[in-house]
Amino acid sequence: MRFDPTAAPPNSHWVPPTWITKSAKPAAAPSHNGLGDSWDPIHPTINGIDLTKPDPRLRFPSIKIKEHGMASSIAFINVNILDSTGRAPYLGDVLVKREKIVKVGGKLSAEELQGAHIFEGNGRTLMSGMVDAHTHFSWTNAPSLEGLAEMPIEEHTIFSAKSAQTFLDCGYTMCFGAASAKERLDVVIKNAIQNGDIPGPRFLANGKEMAPADGALIKGITRFVETKEDIERAANELADMGIDQCKFSMSGEEILEHLRAEDTTFSDELVAAGVEAAHARGMRVCSHARSDEAIMQSLQYGVDVIYHASFISDATMDALEAQKDRVFVAPALNFPYSTLHDAEAFGYAVSKAEAAGYARELEIAIAGLKEMRRRGIKVLPGGDYGFAWTPHGGYRDLEHFVKLLGMTPMDAIVAGTAYGGELMLHPNDLGKIIPGAYADLILVNGNPLEDISLLSHKENLDVIVMNGRVHKAENVGFKTCSR
Ligand SMILES: [Zn+2]
Repeated sequence: MRFDPTAAPPNSHWVPPTWITKSAKPAAAPSHNGLGDSWDPIHPTINGIDLTKPDPRLRFPSIKIKEHGMASSIAFINVNILDSTGRAPYLGDVLVKREKIVKVGGKLSAEELQGAHIFEGNGRTLMSGMVDAHTHFSWTNAPSLEGLAEMPIEEHTIFSAKSAQTFLDCGYTMCFGAASAKERLDVVIKNAIQNGDIPGPRFLANGKEMAPADGALIKGITRFVETKEDIERAANELADMGIDQCKFSMSGEEILEHLRAEDTTFSDELVAAGVEAAHARGMRVCSHARSDEAIMQSLQYGVDVIYHASFISDATMDALEAQKDRVFVAPALNFPYSTLHDAEAFGYAVSKAEAAGYARELEIAIAGLKEMRRRGIKVLPGGDYGFAWTPHGGYRDLEHFVKLLGMTPMDAIVAGTAYGGELMLHPNDLGKIIPGAYADLILVNGNPLEDISLLSHKENLDVIVMNGRVHKAENVGFKTCSR
């Protein structure tokens, strides 16, 4: 490890796991959870529910966007089709009718091209729009954490709508809300997108993040939950508002210094009661879990999406592997990465970020994420964007996946598209170029398999189609029927 071990907080109990030490020492698995109930990490259950599969009570959220205009037809001809099934790109045509992809591959006939808007490939790559699994439309690009709480609600609503459009402008057609700075901001934007009132990606809404008052990362945007009753009430209120998933802030964050990444903020009782209340209403639960204990609590009580997962131990990794068909991990690497590399201009020196522990955490997290990939655990992009040094529009998680995690560009793109469809609970409708899927597509000027950083810069996206409608078309002439 290259980080300065003295950067570890005095109460750090991180033990280097076997994928770092390369030793064969078997992990000691706990036999009971924190509530004293027996716990089998390989056959995990909670309240009789099998934790290796999604809770059958979860609902399938609507992802439909209303179409107000006339029925349209779009044809991409002679494009390199990167379909996100894992198959190598191949040259062919793709036909879109109304909001769906109807034909993929081969050559479209003159009849099929009749009346269609035609885009020619000319060496470009057609792929699914991307997913961000850790989205905060309402993070205001503020230069401090508390700054996120300062915008008045009217400006904040407009700002959030603009963020939604920015994601779409950058080729993101699926966003999964990871907390909303005010309770209803996410759901209002989701409703407006689904009604066809504003442009934006398909979106699943979150509420304000929840934490006990003394464990809140940013007090001004946190709903305080101290007791089982508090968290049950919160979950029910969010469900009543039409929110899709809720967020528990279960560990600290190095930048806070007083509440470190390795500190755990939720009691086992609170996690267990919160997940049960959310699942009973069909809502999923996400956790801000940097500490090993918080990751383990997430797994023992049924959290569905784990964010960060930095300080994972051997025993917790084994438990996560057993639940890999149910749980998604989104590390949001861009926040620690940019806090180390880009925050200086905003008054947060590199030396300060290193002293706070970000270099250490990033290095430990990267090793853990590589191990997760090796074990087939689903790791998704999604970057916690919306601070001054990680502003909206600078989305570059797939680049991090290749450059920091050593993923192949193809694996990064599948994680950034097809896994998105799974996260949105619509794996056959979203994230792949297959007949019957929604036409949420991007035409990339170049080959992202040769240069993944093409996807980090929106000027490389010549065409963006959302729900079968052209959102952007640049460097392409519109034509009709060329065969
Ligand atoms: Zn976040």
